[in-house]
Amino acid sequence: MSQEELKQAIQDKKLICPKCKDPVQKYDNYIDLVGSVWDGAGDSGVESAGSKVTLICGNGDCAWKERTEYWDSFEE
Ligand SMILES: [Zn+2]
Repeated sequence: MSQEELKQAIQDKKLICPKCKDPVQKYDNYIDLVGSVWDGAGDSGVESAGSKVTLICGNGDCAWKERTEYWDSFEE
């Protein structure tokens, strides 16, 4: 899952806050998790192993937020 997909999911109100059941409004501190970095002869690459992000509800006075690698589990 890329940051683009995450952005889109939030825009489409697909991520739901488990506390107030309203769509998650924003996210913070997105990072790509690196699975392995290899560096061969004239050849190098990074293999992505997903991503980690802080989801922030942002609805009314709901203070829910969660640091997760599995943000798609909040998708409805
Ligand atoms: Zn909430």
